[in-house]
Amino acid sequence: MAEEKGTLSIHTENIFPIIKKFLYSDHEIFLRELVSNAVDASQKLKKLASFGECKEEVGDLKVTVALDENAKTITISDNGIGMTADEIKKYINQIAFSGATEFLEKYKDKGEDKQIIGHFGLGFYSAFMVASKVEIVTKSFREGTEAARWICDGSTEFEISAADKTTRGTDIILHVAEDSKEFLDKYRLQNILDKYCKFLPVQIEFDAKVVNNPNPIWTKQPSELKDEDYINFYKELYPFTEDPLFWIHLNVDYPFNLTGILYFPKLKGEFEVQKK
Ligand code: ADP
Repeated sequence: MAEEKGTLSIHTENIFPIIKKFLYSDHEIFLRELVSNAVDASQKLKKLASFGECKEEVGDLKVTVALDENAKTITISDNGIGMTADEIKKYINQIAFSGATEFLEKYKDKGEDKQIIGHFGLGFYSAFMVASKVEIVTKSFREGTEAARWICDGSTEFEISAADKTTRGTDIILHVAEDSKEFLDKYRLQNILDKYCKFLPVQIEFDAKVVNNPNPIWTKQPSELKDEDYINFYKELYPFTEDPLFWIHLNVDYPFNLTGILYFPKLKGEFEVQKK
């Protein structure tokens, strides 16, 4: 047989199995991606309001994560900029459905990169790692626009229609798939939020409690802070430990931007000192 070389073609129809099985081994990051989008939408609204582009009252911006075990849904809601039906078509439908071949080509060597979905602008689609059906119900902050509902079951077909939402913002409703029931658990979701969302800059609520600290102390100037602020923050991160020995507040501008606090814990002589 003659030797033949060729290229495997990738069609948009098989993008979901790729997202679901290969791009991320950690399915739990769906929540980080969706909460980040909700936070982004809130911050965009704040910015637009500061330019005078938002006519209505901005009010308190907040992201809410809600679990309904009976309905088997997880809902991520924000009161940020929202989307019109046209914006859904542009930002949600097109990216994955039309650009799949190109982006796989572009990022083919980066398969190991954990942040890969973020690079694609595919964060939203990580929802399909855990959901058999995803609904978006959203209303744009722009005056005179109608609310819209988008539904997709993870195939390349979607439905878009008018919705009766009257308040600004977006609800992302995940109908959790049979094989992802582990996420229909309050403690599991709380853990994921603690792991990834603890310091996001907009208030996040879950189970009637605030999950995050939107103004962590490393974002402040050392001159504004007292020892006690550093110690309290350390205790917030590591409850039930002794005070740290000392700490360094990092605030680097060049050659890269880095802010943070490096804590040095007290070590007790409890461990066995081994020879060599
Ligand atoms: P990325 O956030 O990297 O751009 P995503 O796939 O996560 O990619 O989202 C695609 C786009 O959909 C976003 O850029 C944004 O325009 C829109 N979007 C997603 N979630 C929301 C939301 N909660 N509110 C408003 N717009 C959203």
